Amino acid sequence: MISPLHQDAINLDTLLERAKVESLGHLNALDILPTKGAYTTNPARDQLPQQGIGALNAFDEFNERLRNVIVASSGPRYWGYVIGGTTPASIVGDWLATAFDQCSFATAGQGDISANIEVETIQLLRQLFNLPDTYLGGFVSGATMSNFTCLSVARQWAGQQLGVDIANDGMVPGITVLSAEPHASAVKSLAMLGIGRNNVVRINYLDGNREAMDVADLEAKLQALNGQPAILISSAGTVNTVDFDDMAAIGKLKETYNFWWHVDGAFGGFAACSPAYQHLVAGWEQADSLTIDCHKWLNVPYDSAIFLMQTKHRQLHIETLQPLNSPYLGDLLTNVNYQTLVPESSRRLRALPAWFSLMAYGKEGYQQIVETNIQLAQTFGKMLSESGCFELLAPVRLNTVCFTLTNAEPEQVNSFLKTLNETGLVFMTPTVYRGRAGIRAAFVNWRTREEDVSMVFGEMVKLVE
Ligand SMILES: *Cc1c(COP(=O)(O)O)cnc(C)c1O
Repeated sequence: MISPLHQDAINLDTLLERAKVESLGHLNALDILPTKGAYTTNPARDQLPQQGIGALNAFDEFNERLRNVIVASSGPRYWGYVIGGTTPASIVGDWLATAFDQCSFATAGQGDISANIEVETIQLLRQLFNLPDTYLGGFVSGATMSNFTCLSVARQWAGQQLGVDIANDGMVPGITVLSAEPHASAVKSLAMLGIGRNNVVRINYLDGNREAMDVADLEAKLQALNGQPAILISSAGTVNTVDFDDMAAIGKLKETYNFWWHVDGAFGGFAACSPAYQHLVAGWEQADSLTIDCHKWLNVPYDSAIFLMQTKHRQLHIETLQPLNSPYLGDLLTNVNYQTLVPESSRRLRALPAWFSLMAYGKEGYQQIVETNIQLAQTFGKMLSESGCFELLAPVRLNTVCFTLTNAEPEQVNSFLKTLNETGLVFMTPTVYRGRAGIRAAFVNWRTREEDVSMVFGEMVKLVE
């Protein structure tokens, strides 16, 4: 008897056809599919079969048990966290990345050309963000790993300043990290890097309902270090209110003080795609390292993000991330070998979905996605603040709306959100801003339209009345 594996190989055409039909079924229903789902285990059916059932039967099983509880997270009304969608071209790229199954780890041009495609895609992204070619970049699984990668090199730099090769000889105590509003993933990276979550010295916010750092306070703290090295984690878009640190002012301090400057622009960095908003990141091209998420506002499938690191740090970068300690770096300094630049060794061809989408929609396509989402956030913010039932916790600075119910206890806010999410029409996430219970809606999906915003707002008003 022919094995299920070999049977499937013969039936590949039918299987891929089915995958196409099922995918279209999902994508075409994104507008109406619920944004909630309830998974239950089924001990009778979730065991590893002794003999495989073949992919077609697995399809049936998937459809019966799992598919109908998968939520429309890439649909137009999934506004929780910062969840992007998928452009048609990025789906094509992702499908092909799977079908071609390349391992993107080696030196550009050696073994396969994955690394060449990756280098090319990074160049397209640099052009999208108007960043100079002094940056070397690569793909990682998300902004967390991008922050991790950048901060690992920052740590190596700080060690070097203190006369220690941390990658080879282990940690030293006493690395100063400064930040006003670091993303949780940057703090997590500090934990993984042995720098420690508790070792972030908080810089004051600017006055007036801001989350951006007071650069005068940053300067005072740098001055007090007396030339000792520091790592600065700055924000191009905080999560609650999408506030931006003053990049130009920070860049100016680089002339006088000894610090590594990292910018987390996971989603806020996309301000650079719009002439109307690019002033928010003006000066960020002076940063030592940058984090940008692709599975958020670039609207490519999970898992995708990039880091960008100034090429002048190439030696430190390789010292930190090369698999084995090779004292002679030679060719690595001129060739791009991703094994020496990213945390993973083997990776899928993660660049391909981004490559497809960037080629397909170009600068103007992304400007339009970004500006439309910002416009929708502003519309939603205006509806809320004019309603009397809701109140903005901060102005809508870019694509996220942070709000609460007027005159409500925290329990009321949370139970309102729970009821709203239970409708399955929309998904938003809770937050606490300046000690007040709030709700966040983030607009990063190209599918979201004005009608979605009105529909959700109508539902919200019904629920508070
Ligand atoms: C989402 C986000 C991250 C973490 O990104 P993942 O892709 O979830 O790992 C880091 N920084 C900021 C500012 C973010 O919004």
